[in-house]
Amino acid sequence: MEQIGHFIDGKRVAGTSGRTADVFNPATGEVQAQVALASQEEMDKAIASAAAAQPAWAATNPQRRARVMMKFVDLLNRDMDKLAEALSREHGKTLPDAKGDVIRGLEVAEFCIGAPHLLKGEFTEGAGPGIDMYSMRQPLGVVAGITPFNFPAMIPMWKFCPALACGNAFILKPSERDPSVPIMLAELMIEAGLPAGLLQVVNGDKSAVDAILDDETIQAVGFVGSTPIAQYVYSRATASGKRAQCFGGAKNHMIIMPDADMDQAADALVGAGYGAAGERCMAVSVAVPVGKSTADALIEKLAPKVEALKIGPYTAGNDVDFGPLVTKEALTRVKGLVDQGVKEGANLVVDGRGFSMQGYEDGFFMGGCLFDNVTKDMEIYKTEIFGPVLSVVRAETYEEALELPLSHEYGNGTAIFTRDGDTARDFASRINIGMVGINVPIPVPLAYHTFGGWKKSGFGDLNQHGPDGFKFYTRTKTVTSRWPSGLKDGAEFSIPTMK
Ligand code: NAD
Repeated sequence: MEQIGHFIDGKRVAGTSGRTADVFNPATGEVQAQVALASQEEMDKAIASAAAAQPAWAATNPQRRARVMMKFVDLLNRDMDKLAEALSREHGKTLPDAKGDVIRGLEVAEFCIGAPHLLKGEFTEGAGPGIDMYSMRQPLGVVAGITPFNFPAMIPMWKFCPALACGNAFILKPSERDPSVPIMLAELMIEAGLPAGLLQVVNGDKSAVDAILDDETIQAVGFVGSTPIAQYVYSRATASGKRAQCFGGAKNHMIIMPDADMDQAADALVGAGYGAAGERCMAVSVAVPVGKSTADALIEKLAPKVEALKIGPYTAGNDVDFGPLVTKEALTRVKGLVDQGVKEGANLVVDGRGFSMQGYEDGFFMGGCLFDNVTKDMEIYKTEIFGPVLSVVRAETYEEALELPLSHEYGNGTAIFTRDGDTARDFASRINIGMVGINVPIPVPLAYHTFGGWKKSGFGDLNQHGPDGFKFYTRTKTVTSRWPSGLKDGAEFSIPTMK
């Protein structure tokens, strides 16, 4: 059985706590490895050595730090197939989707090559008589990231690339469900020229997370995962004085107006609802057609597409739309929610619960499910299902449709499909959600913009990657300077103002 340890001081090391977790191949249901779960002492040691390595890295000029990032991008491209295979094997997503996971992280590394420019401060010459004022952005020191299972390449890179480019040392606590890729990324950073100790990958569960949250050296924590844990990490991290940004779950609505291109909308819903088996925080899980004829036409187009979805292991190559769920618990939970939807009176138009695949009977597969006539009070509407399940909630008017995402507790992403610019503009302006698509179902901002949800999808200030990433991982120092000019005005007793 493969044993996955940690990545400390530039190399793989075995765990010493004696505790491990099983890592599955979700397509076969087999345990393929065991990952070490770090103790408080192991975490403390990783943090101490990161702290020792950080000052020299912060003193390295930003162009040289950026060159490490440049080389890292080359190496990611070189090893793309290997990374995608390792990712699919532990996560279950298809190979093209796994490559997308790596590429969306790689693009943030590319953005970080601009660190020398992004780290420049501001300067005001002659802010007062003989006075100059300037600001600089300095690294925080040692920072940490705690990441989820569903994007084991992209989300760690969203965090450690800007953090390292800014001159910090980074402690990554990835998901224990798919721990191989984060360690492979750390190896590539070393090969790219990152000095040892600056990127430590410490595997673990709640104990490792708590060790990060209570540690006095760590200055900032970036978290992505489910909302209850995001809220917990945010409160505990900020209680110990850390800067924190914690992103949580989602329930993303897509409104379909009567004037939308119905074929385009149906295709968008199938891709965004069922891609990666619905295990994306930007998956569309609620479709809101406006008007009865829109809803009827949509269901008529959607049902055969959902029935025709191709489900299988990543090894089947391009011939698969989505793979298994990540664990047996996830599968049982999602099927249980579908059962509950049926009990609560929603109309299950396509039932994927019975899906089974010859040769992969123990894999964590299920087929796509499509619900019609879902209402606001149902559990399947309120809860993030995180599986291949799309709920249609019918609305009579645009205002009624808009009210649904407006009043939902989550605020990660949303979309509207329409040919009317005025409606689209009104929607983008009034909706209280962080990322909005107009005829685009999954509006994930590119690396040079920023990613973040509102309401219970995001706690703290500043988004991930883009210019916000550089702000989060640095603090501003402002210097007011005057060089002796020979003028002797004597002491000043009122608060200095720039006269
Ligand atoms: P999760 O909350 O179970 O785990 C996330 C991280 O927290 C993991 O590293 C895990 O080890 C750790 N963790 C789990 N339980 C903990 C506990 N009790 N105390 C401390 N740490 C704990 O999430 P997941 O199942 O890995 O990921 C899926 C969730 O992540 C979904 O809710 C999804 O919407 C969300 N997500 C959000 C975004 C976003 O940007 N908003 C992006 C991707 C995923």
